[in-house]
Amino acid sequence: MNAQEQPVESTSPLTDALAQLASAVKHLGISPGVHQMLAQPRRELMVSVPLRRDDGSIAVYSGYRVQHNFSRGPAKGGLRYSPSVDIDEVRALAMWMTWKCALVDVPYGGAKGGVAFDPRDHSDSELERVTRRYTAEILPIIGPDVDIPAPDMGTNEQTMAWIMDTYSSSQGHTVPGVVTGKPISLGGSLGRASATSRGVSHIALMALASRGIDPTNASAAVQGFGKVGRDAARFLAEAGVAVKAISDVDGAIYAAGGISITALSAHVDATGSVVGFDGAEELEPADLLTADVDVLVPAATEGVITGDNAHDIRASIVVEGANGPTTNEADMILHERGVLVVPDILANAGGVVVSYFEWVQANQAYQWRESEVNERLEERMTRAWHSVIEYAGAHKLTYRQAATALSVKRVVEAHELRGLYP
Ligand code: GLU
Repeated sequence: MNAQEQPVESTSPLTDALAQLASAVKHLGISPGVHQMLAQPRRELMVSVPLRRDDGSIAVYSGYRVQHNFSRGPAKGGLRYSPSVDIDEVRALAMWMTWKCALVDVPYGGAKGGVAFDPRDHSDSELERVTRRYTAEILPIIGPDVDIPAPDMGTNEQTMAWIMDTYSSSQGHTVPGVVTGKPISLGGSLGRASATSRGVSHIALMALASRGIDPTNASAAVQGFGKVGRDAARFLAEAGVAVKAISDVDGAIYAAGGISITALSAHVDATGSVVGFDGAEELEPADLLTADVDVLVPAATEGVITGDNAHDIRASIVVEGANGPTTNEADMILHERGVLVVPDILANAGGVVVSYFEWVQANQAYQWRESEVNERLEERMTRAWHSVIEYAGAHKLTYRQAATALSVKRVVEAHELRGLYP
C-alpha cells in the first residue's frame, strides 16, 4: 500500500471503513482469514423499540448495538439517536471504535449503538421511555465488563443516567461502570464532557506546529457547534487561533476577524442556534467547508467532505472531530493536494480516553481531580500523535493509513496471542 493508491469508490461509511481496513491488511500482510474476521462484527443485535408517545399513540423505532471486536477488552462505544441511523452506519462506527481504542491504547474493543429517530421531535419523558426500552432490549449484551455505551450524536449525560439506572435495576444494585459520560453526581468523570474537544484542540495545535504555523497566526473553521465543535472552537480560540467560521444544523456564520466563542455560546444558549449571532455575518453552510482558513474541523457528521468539494477545501489541515467526515475519495484528493488530514480515530479519541478514565474511576470508586484527568488525556493524545506521525513517515503512508495500520496491528496481535477458540 502507498499513499498514491487509487480510491475505492465510496458510497457509505461502511464501504469507507472496509476500504480503510483492506488497505491496512494489505500493508501489514494480514491473512485473508483474519481480514475476514476483522471485516465482520463479532456480534450485532437489532431490536425494535416501541414508544408510547405523550399523545397516547405508539411509535416503533429500529435500534441496534454492534460489537465489532473484543480482542483487547470489553467493547466500547457511543449510542446515537438520529434519523440517519441504520445497521451499516452502526457497523462502520463500531469498527472505527475498535481502531480508536487500540490507537490510544485503552483496553477495549469497539462497539456502537443507535436508534433511528429524531430526538429533537420528542419530549424528555419520551426520550426517557425510548432510552429505557432500548436499554432493556440490549440488556443481555451490555455490562461493565462486556460492552460499555457512552454518548454520541443525539444522546447526552441524561441518556447515560437512564441507561445506568435501567441496567442497575435489572442487577439489583448500582453499576456505575456500565456506561461512561454520566453526570458527575452519578460517578461521571470530571473533564469528560469537554474531553473530545480538548483532544481535538491538542491535535490541531500539534498539527499546526508540525507545519510551522503559530496558533496566534492561524485561523480555523468549525462545522458543528455541539458536543465536539463548541468546546473545540473555545479551546482553539483560547490558544490564540482565530475561529472565523462556525456552523450548526440551522446555518453558518463568518467573521473575518474571528468569532468570540464566549459571546456566541451565550447566543446559542439563549436561541438554540448560531444563526442570528450579531458578532458575525451569515454564511452559506456549504461555504464553511471551503472557507479560507488554516484548519478545518468537521465536527458534525460523516460524509461531508466528498469528491465533489475536496478540490475546493482551502484549509491546509483537516482535523476530524466527527467520525468519518471525509469519504475515501475525498481523502485521496486531499492527500494529492498536500492537505494534512488528521483522521477521526486519532483526532477525536479524547472522548473515549476520558471514558476509560471514568470507567477506571468507577471500578476504583474513587474520583480523580480534573487536572489529573486533563494531564493524562494530553499525555495519551500526544503519545498517539507521535506514534502516528512516526509510522506514517517510516512507511510513507497518510496519517489515516498509518493510524489504521497501527491500530489493526495491535488488534491482530491481541487476537493472535489469545488464539482462536476452540
Ligand atoms: N461517541 C464517542 C466516540 O465516537 C465516545 C465513545 C466512548 O466514549 O465510548 O468516540
